[in-house]
Amino acid sequence: MGLFDKFKEITRKVSEVESNIYHEKRDYLEIYERNIELEKEIAERTEELNDANKRMFTLQHIWDMMNSSTPLENVLEAIVNSTQGELGYMHCAIIRKYEDEEGEFLRIIAQSNDNLIDRLNNIIGGPGIQTRRLNYSKDSIYADSMRQRTIIQSTSIDISLAGILPDVPKEVIDKVNSNQPVRSIIVIPLIAQKKEFGWFCVFSAREELASAEMDFLGLFAKQIEMAITIADLFQAVREQAVTDSLTGLYNRRYFEESLNKEVQRAKRQKQPFSVVGIDLDFLKKINDTHGHNFGDIAIKAVADVLKANARSVDVAARIGGEEFNVLLPGINSEGAMVAAERIRKSIESLELDTIGKITGSLGVATYFEHSENVDELLELTDQAMYTSKREGRNRVTIAQPVSEGYWQEVAINTFLDILSKNRIPKAKHLSKELCLKLKAPANKDERTKETLYSVADMLTKLYNPVHTPGVTKNKVLMAVSLAKRFDLPKEEIDNLRVAVLLYDIGNLMLPDELLQKATPLTDDERDTIKNHPVIAAREILKPISYVQDVLPIIEHHHENWDGSGYPNKMSKEEIPLTSQIILILDQYFALIEPRPYRSKLSTRDAIEIVKADAGKKWNNTLVDEFISLIEHDIV
Ligand code: GH3
Ligand code: MG
Repeated sequence: MGLFDKFKEITRKVSEVESNIYHEKRDYLEIYERNIELEKEIAERTEELNDANKRMFTLQHIWDMMNSSTPLENVLEAIVNSTQGELGYMHCAIIRKYEDEEGEFLRIIAQSNDNLIDRLNNIIGGPGIQTRRLNYSKDSIYADSMRQRTIIQSTSIDISLAGILPDVPKEVIDKVNSNQPVRSIIVIPLIAQKKEFGWFCVFSAREELASAEMDFLGLFAKQIEMAITIADLFQAVREQAVTDSLTGLYNRRYFEESLNKEVQRAKRQKQPFSVVGIDLDFLKKINDTHGHNFGDIAIKAVADVLKANARSVDVAARIGGEEFNVLLPGINSEGAMVAAERIRKSIESLELDTIGKITGSLGVATYFEHSENVDELLELTDQAMYTSKREGRNRVTIAQPVSEGYWQEVAINTFLDILSKNRIPKAKHLSKELCLKLKAPANKDERTKETLYSVADMLTKLYNPVHTPGVTKNKVLMAVSLAKRFDLPKEEIDNLRVAVLLYDIGNLMLPDELLQKATPLTDDERDTIKNHPVIAAREILKPISYVQDVLPIIEHHHENWDGSGYPNKMSKEEIPLTSQIILILDQYFALIEPRPYRSKLSTRDAIEIVKADAGKKWNNTLVDEFISLIEHDIV
């Protein structure tokens, strides 16, 4: 090959390489550009996926709510809140259409938890929009969207507001309109079970509505319609349900209905009937040792015993978690005791896997014989059952007819409950001694009362070291005398006696330094002390079923006649008279006792102070009766 040829060959190769490089560069550039586009597309897709996920989450959340059997309005509340919060709208609401003799109207039945409605209410004044009967006009976006079965978006916020609130003046509507960030309102008709239900309303900060968003809202409305249908069915089914799902026994509602029918029948035919109350013993221990499932197994085992022992006319029901009642038509107390004893023995003879033996405590009460009032009869069954617990469980107790001593039973059982369950940690060291005292076989009457007074005195001494034994008794006697002067019924007086024994036990939950402080209290400290009526009523005594009637008396024993007291700032006749009686006695006896920051006052001085508070803490009538009582005593 000549030199020239060689040169040509090299040039060709160079240009080939050059061209290769050029092409590769172009390919590379193309790839680079394609990559950028792909990335962009991926970012867009990811965002769409995220949105879709959020929507799925919202739907999922709603289905969870449905499963928890929450009633319709709660489900709707959850729906609007999740749409508003998770999908970022200004406000969401569900408006329902109603009809009555005055025609069709609208009502907001669910709204999201943002401040838009508050702002609106502030401007329009009067009752909140959520409580108003709203106007339904045939030429509104609501009517249009319902007629056409379509989503309608409107940017005329003022027109749609004026439409539902025709009574609000135009200037006010304009003010609302100029004051809010909402740019458009979207209404989607809701139709459930072929009936026009109402609208899902979305308030958006944007004027435009993307078609994807529109599709989603449409889909979402379908879900709401389904939720409405299901919630309606759920509610209907639940209202018709007469059995308890765990045990297959009748439920509380059915039991109460049967009981009321039985009362009518008993009156008509002059036939008695009885109620047996059963409470499973130590269920908490079974739950704690073996787990809740085994607790459920024990409950079912008791239920099976009740079913096996029931005649066809008996109504065996699960009243609460571990409480059962059996209604025995036509059966007197002797028969009911036999039936109850049979149930007790059957429970005792069970041998459950893993759990082993279980027992129950039973109480029996009979209509006519023990009471002619249904509520009282149930209360007596409960009391008798508690007596079975107190006396060692696994036994049957017959109700005590309501008697002079009934309030003492209530008080004894309450103290025993508080002490044995250590509801007041500060009294723990006394609980054994006091429980023994309370359980000592009492010949009712005087000895029982003295026991109660002394237990109350000992507990009082824990937070008030200068408390004089005997004061509780004086307070109870004076409270009863005062109540009688006001002709209060016997049950009220009995509740008052129990309240006097217990009204200050909330103090035992307060820090010692506060109770013994010799220098004046700060505002914060005073506020803490002011919690004691609520602590007594809502924390210590609330779980004890048979003292429920006493709780309001205790909770309000620091309400003042002029509304300046606590916890509820009640005034005048709103305050239970029994609470006022306690207040006046409490203050009077505090005045005649020494305090870390003052010495004790004479009776005369104390009376003057009580008098001076007439019209403020209590009314004149109460002061007059109180003073006449004291002076009667002094003479
Ligand atoms: P006592 O003999 O004094 O009745 O003791 P107890 O433990 O049975 O009674 P207590 O009233 O102290 O506690 C009742 C427990 O029953 C508390 C609660 O968690 C449990 N319980 C209530 N309902 C159910 C239920 O449906 N299933 C289960 N496993 N436990 C329940
Ligand atoms: Mg129990």
